[in-house]
Amino acid sequence: MTTPFQQTAYDAVIVGGRAAGAATAMLLARSGARVLIVERAREIRDTLSTHALMPPAVAALDAWGILDQATVDTPEIRQVTFRYGAEEIIVPIPAHRPGLFAPRRWRLDPAIGGAAVAAGAEFVTGVACEGLLSDGEDQVRGVTVRDHTGTLHRIQAGVVIGADGLNSTVARLTGARSRATSKIASAAVYGYFAGLPDIGYQWFFGDSVAGGLIPTTGGVHGVFVTFRPDALLDRFAVDPIAGMAEILAGWDTDLAGHIRATGPVERLRRFAGAPAYIRDCAGPGWALAGDAGYFKDPISAHGLTDAFLDAQRLASVIIRGWDLSAYQRARDPHAFHMFSLTQKMAALDWSFEELKALHAAVNDCMKTERACFEATQGTAAVAA
Ligand SMILES: Cc1cc2nc3c(=O)[nH]c(=O)nc-3n(C[C@H](O)[C@H](O)[C@H](O)COP(=O)(O)OP(=O)(O)OC[C@H]3O[C@@H](n4cnc5c(N)ncnc54)[C@H](O)[C@@H]3O)c2cc1C
Repeated sequence: MTTPFQQTAYDAVIVGGRAAGAATAMLLARSGARVLIVERAREIRDTLSTHALMPPAVAALDAWGILDQATVDTPEIRQVTFRYGAEEIIVPIPAHRPGLFAPRRWRLDPAIGGAAVAAGAEFVTGVACEGLLSDGEDQVRGVTVRDHTGTLHRIQAGVVIGADGLNSTVARLTGARSRATSKIASAAVYGYFAGLPDIGYQWFFGDSVAGGLIPTTGGVHGVFVTFRPDALLDRFAVDPIAGMAEILAGWDTDLAGHIRATGPVERLRRFAGAPAYIRDCAGPGWALAGDAGYFKDPISAHGLTDAFLDAQRLASVIIRGWDLSAYQRARDPHAFHMFSLTQKMAALDWSFEELKALHAAVNDCMKTERACFEATQGTAAVAA
């Protein structure tokens, strides 16, 4: 039988090769571990995400030495504008810090995966994890995976890491306990538009709606609107551009007119919302990273930051030889706090003063998160 794998046993097998999985693999491989990433997709293309990086996520890419590769042809953002109804607050990025970036996922994720491979990780695509190997007790010892020809392979692993996103197979197979849940809060429609001025991130908040502009790779802007899920059918079923324009006109009639007149450069994307959760993220021989362990509404644009934090903390714990429960203890306080702030934002029932207080609280969280990466500078040896 031919096999796409170089070995039958690894220190770590990572299921899922995007933000959380590729970053964890890169950090482990840099420490000398034998790492295999198995990724179900044949190729890492686009995925449902508006991909705006917050300051800690940029600090992570910078500390890991991959910011340049991850942001090719992607504009640097030097200011963020918040529009609370008619009130406008402009926040410049301090000159001594790198700016912000919002690379498309087909740019960001392969850049991290490429760094993992450069560090010695094996990255095999078109392979889906289907089962776990165990010692008959509850200790996970490896995975069973099916390649694109339909062949099943058994691979031993010192640790199996589920970085397989929202509908995580590894979370299901390990029975990772749910620790918090929240019902679907908001839905979103977004698309990419040309010809808009490049003045940084712009976040708009109105009466039970939000929206924004995100300069991204290739000289276009991501434009999104967020609203209560029941509006998805009412407002967007027939003419989604008109639905977007109607909401955006609440802040900027020129922008609304522009997107109507030009139309998107690619098909629009719809996100119908998804229930949020926090799960246990570690057990005997297994761990979960990124959305697999903890998913919150996209309104805080924090999923990539948290995926990178998980990668940093998990790799640090494994490299130090600590029990995986140390990873869970490092993740939980921050995750529960961000989860609560995000779900309050996503409820879309705040006054502007309440929303500003939530934004201030998220900003405080980000100072701690950024410090975690700034102290790192290319190693995985902090932040546990
Ligand atoms: C509409 C929307 C907008 C968003 N906007 C932002 C934003 O602006 N900023 C931000 O920071 N975050 C944003 N997010 C969140 C962000 O996209 C996620 O948090 C991030 O993608 C999580 O990365 P991940 O690596 O954990 O999982 P994913 O990106 O979901 O990657 C999981 C990978 O695992 C693979 N996989 C799945 N099952 C298997 C299996 N059985 N075997 C092998 N491989 C498997 C999948 O093919 C996939 O490649 C947004 C999310 C949504 C839905």
